[in-house]
Amino acid sequence: MEQHQKDQRRETLFMDAKSGYDRLYDGQWELAEAYCEGYKSFLDAGKTERDCISEAVFQAERHGFVPYAPGMEVKTGDKVYLTRMGKAGVFAVIGSKPLGGGLRMVASHIDAPRLDLKPRPLYEDGGLALLKTHYYGGVKKYQWMASPLELRGVICTPDGQTIRVSVGAGENEPVLVITDLLPHLGEEQMKKTVTEAFPGEGLNVLIGSRPDPSEGADRVKLAVLELLRGKYGITEHDFVSAELCLVPAGPARDVGLDRAMIGAYGQDDRACSYAGLRALFDAGDTPEYTAVCFLADKEEIGSEGVTGMQGGFFDHFIEQLCAAQGASLRDCYAHSFCLSGDVINAFDPNFPDVSDARNEARLGHGVAISKYTGRKGKSGASDASAETMAYLRRVLDQAGVFWQSAALGKVDKGGGGTVAAYLARRDIEVVDGGVPVLSMHAPFEIVSKLDCYMAYKACLAVYKG
Ligand code: MN
Ligand code: MN
Repeated sequence: MEQHQKDQRRETLFMDAKSGYDRLYDGQWELAEAYCEGYKSFLDAGKTERDCISEAVFQAERHGFVPYAPGMEVKTGDKVYLTRMGKAGVFAVIGSKPLGGGLRMVASHIDAPRLDLKPRPLYEDGGLALLKTHYYGGVKKYQWMASPLELRGVICTPDGQTIRVSVGAGENEPVLVITDLLPHLGEEQMKKTVTEAFPGEGLNVLIGSRPDPSEGADRVKLAVLELLRGKYGITEHDFVSAELCLVPAGPARDVGLDRAMIGAYGQDDRACSYAGLRALFDAGDTPEYTAVCFLADKEEIGSEGVTGMQGGFFDHFIEQLCAAQGASLRDCYAHSFCLSGDVINAFDPNFPDVSDARNEARLGHGVAISKYTGRKGKSGASDASAETMAYLRRVLDQAGVFWQSAALGKVDKGGGGTVAAYLARRDIEVVDGGVPVLSMHAPFEIVSKLDCYMAYKACLAVYKG
């Protein structure tokens, strides 16, 4: 057999394991880089779900989207959006096909692991003022210590005010921090397991050290409360009706001498949220199917709550669109396809033991498609049907998207879930797909620019169905 015939057989029969870099055509890397500049700005603007929704709405309005009002007439090409509590949002471009024929959608989440303040956070100890926290989502607690943090969120007062809080974003603003034990005195700490050494109740944030000049107890706490009253007009009572959290300080950065990666907080799952949103803006004015981008909150704690994917907000919105056309919501869902845009772990040469290297996503190999997530025997996964996977392969290949198949680690090593299961419950065909990430859930997560761009291309292909 001739050598070139042999090679052709390999090309035909083996699944392509080429890096995306070996498939790039002229000018495509530049497109990826330009896309990622927009993405990095989105990350810097959106360190909380509220910030993400504000930024998404700002960008959507610039692209001609208008707020949806109940009873509003909608026709082909209309661009509408609706938000819930300022923390979840749905953005739609009405297609030429009736809604009973289904949607083409991307659902992703904009919440990220962080440290939330407790309802009674402020106290004084040892002449220092501190804030008690309760972590949100899956965090490795030691990663949050001895590193600058921003304070973000809102305080709502009973008289109807919503006060936005942002401390530490600007270069000259102060930051907050959780102290760690000096190694000189860490002998006992070092003998403990990681879980024992870093208890949740130990994540107390340093917020002040200068006492009020008055006499009496808790003078540093008093001084901090005076500063808060001066800046926001609040008292200690107002923490009860607040959502304040600590997120890593600092902007998104290029990573590597080749600048091929991005390091930033919250890329799970803003890498996919931004892709879904930006692709919707670029999907054209009159798509065939109604194109929908859903930005969900609360994924990291089980998609609960009115702003989570298990809440009724999404259904209520689509139901109203369907009603405007006399279509049934159930028919609409049954004919829909959704890309559940969520990040997945990338193979990490520092931790090969948890990976099935043959099935793990690789950085730079394109958007990663997963038939299932879940844990221990696929539990909790929606496990997409072969037919649905075949449909997505066709859509991606026709659009020239570089994609790879992915799985979440070795069998029985752990696992996780996404919003996919909650879409499947609605009778919507769904597949997980997204950007591979290194150091997922860490304060500084790493992705490949090429993969981010391919996730965007994948969303675009899905909307165009
Ligand atoms: Mn995620
Ligand atoms: Mn996550």
